[in-house]
Amino acid sequence: MLVLIANLGSTSFKYRLYRMDEGGQEVLAKGGYERVSDYAAVIDDALATLQKDGVISSAEEIDAVGFKTVLGKDLSGCVIADDVCVKALEDFAAVAPAHNPPYANGIRQFGKSLPHAKLVALFETAFYQWVSEARSIYALPKAWREIGIRRYGFHGASHKFVAERSAELLGRADVAQSTASLYLHGPAPIAGKPLRVVSCHLGGSSSITGIFNGVAIGTSMGFSPQSGLPQNNRVGDLDSGALPYAMKTLGISLEEAERQLTKESGLQGISGISNDIRDIHAAKNQGNADAALALAHLVDSIRHWVGSFAWQMGGIDALVFTAGIGENDYTVRKAVCEGLEEFGLVFDDVRNVACRAVEAELSAPHSKAKIFVIPANEELVLAREVFRKVTHHEIS
Ligand code: AMP
Repeated sequence: MLVLIANLGSTSFKYRLYRMDEGGQEVLAKGGYERVSDYAAVIDDALATLQKDGVISSAEEIDAVGFKTVLGKDLSGCVIADDVCVKALEDFAAVAPAHNPPYANGIRQFGKSLPHAKLVALFETAFYQWVSEARSIYALPKAWREIGIRRYGFHGASHKFVAERSAELLGRADVAQSTASLYLHGPAPIAGKPLRVVSCHLGGSSSITGIFNGVAIGTSMGFSPQSGLPQNNRVGDLDSGALPYAMKTLGISLEEAERQLTKESGLQGISGISNDIRDIHAAKNQGNADAALALAHLVDSIRHWVGSFAWQMGGIDALVFTAGIGENDYTVRKAVCEGLEEFGLVFDDVRNVACRAVEAELSAPHSKAKIFVIPANEELVLAREVFRKVTHHEIS
């Protein structure tokens, strides 16, 4: 089966073409466009390029197109990207203005350019469908809750991949299989010892998810990707009382406050240097106190959320790091894992320093709980979900 993964930004379009089968996958081609103003033109150009390069002989050979959509109103999961899906994206355009409009337009356009192909949307919120209501709601009046204000969670594709892969690494094929087919069949009953994993997706955008028997039980992200950990330039958790106070005291409009909270906060805001952690480390090493504070705040927030989920699950069997910071930044990983021996996590710093962006175990051999790095591959995760969905769709 040929699956095209379409990554759509407000002015960009990137794609990857996979050949998928039960045994594995192969990347056949990849490409992209910047400064896009007309999706129809670039999609047709990409299809023509694939034919010109001899990757496909006709656009009809593409069986499915996958979209990693962020969140939709009253819709989640891995779904066929039809009119209902497009409407759900449009109805929440104000919550994800950088993502939802390009995906709604892109899905429509692919429907026209590849009418025979199955279009599949994997929502970033999909992994959180089984989080309890008690942990999903905010303590708000009913009217606020009725317009859809609640915790949704993001980075679902990445955390689900961690759930599957960590279960495999821990020899729990039962949990790995249940997680693999989660969007088709829901959680399967798991016999025996529960498996408790905390997944740390630490990158330009970061979140932490507690995973019990391969199913997410909660996450640091909330209604929008504006909560939880400090992000590269977004604030993370903020007391709602701070917004009206800052607007009145600084004399700024709601739009300006929103801009500062989404563009000038997070690691960028605290350090005043950069939104890239490599620059912040360099500044700290030269004695910059704001850079040191930004790093300390990030580590403190990560430990706060890891501790919360470990407690909710009654313990932890594996702690996993993924994404740009999680895969590369051995200083942050070490600080996160310091002094946790009482909780069964014994960190091996030699393994840690040796590990850069590869799958690895960072725990000492005698550690009761494991510590892993599992590199993220979001396109592949999406291609696998699309393959599962289309295969299942054709059977059912
Ligand atoms: P992501 O969003 O997963 O692509 O992660 C991007 C972020 O990861 C960057 O903004 C950096 O802060 C961080 N990052 C990327 N590469 C490295 C590296 N080699 N060492 C430390 N941090 C890195």
